[in-house]
Amino acid sequence: MMASVSWAVATDVGRVRDTNEDSVLARPPVFVIADGMGGHAGGDVASSLAVAEFAALADLQSLTREDVATAIARGNDRILEHARAQGELGMGTTVTGMAVVAPGGVEHWLVFNVGDSRVYRWTGERLAQITVDHSEVQELVERGEIAPSDARSHRLRSVVTRALGSDPAPEADSWLLPLVPGERFLLCSDGLVAELSDAEIAEALTAETPDAAAELLVRRALEAGGSDNISVIVVDVVAAENGAGGPEEDTKPRLEFGVRRTGSSEVDVPGADG
Ligand code: MN
Repeated sequence: MMASVSWAVATDVGRVRDTNEDSVLARPPVFVIADGMGGHAGGDVASSLAVAEFAALADLQSLTREDVATAIARGNDRILEHARAQGELGMGTTVTGMAVVAPGGVEHWLVFNVGDSRVYRWTGERLAQITVDHSEVQELVERGEIAPSDARSHRLRSVVTRALGSDPAPEADSWLLPLVPGERFLLCSDGLVAELSDAEIAEALTAETPDAAAELLVRRALEAGGSDNISVIVVDVVAAENGAGGPEEDTKPRLEFGVRRTGSSEVDVPGADG
């Protein structure tokens, strides 16, 4: 990829669960969060299997829609195979992410989603949720039976209506977005959304750097209760190859990716257990 991005990852088991069943991959041109579900180690394995299919794509310059669809389909197959071999019922995972694709030679983000992890876009002024949850609560909202503001606390909040590990294979939603320098994206598992409102998320995204924003989001979610595993990836578009939204005269090849990896599997919070 020619675009330059900077990103940070943070994931935490939370303050209630024993295990972290979220899996995270941040390796340009692809960023993915998977939130696993299932008994024993089932959820952990399911989310790992889904993310592993995307890790295989991470060394490519840019992906295609087909690459993403294939990775999702393969992840689904691997999970079904594992569940059958182990006799584990109800093993599945969400998979949500964004990848650089170049339809017609121009780099774009392809945002994709199965389940209720999310991708948000932050312009510096406005937070927009790109993905639409596949959940019982989202269906109630769409039918006008509950208000969007009641969705976060609804008892059906965590009931997912589409997930990998299903037969027939689930269909992924996708969105194509321009790469705009200065834009910041947030990928997150539902453990973040369960604790923080959109306004609180937006406030944390004003942090200077992706790692400061990622750390702050997870810390705030832990302080708010940490009832589920919490995973976030914050991605800043530093420059785009075609200069969309930036200076047009600069056609020189840019630094491939001026990236900084800031990973932390645990975020230290004073007073948190474990
Ligand atoms: Mn979750």
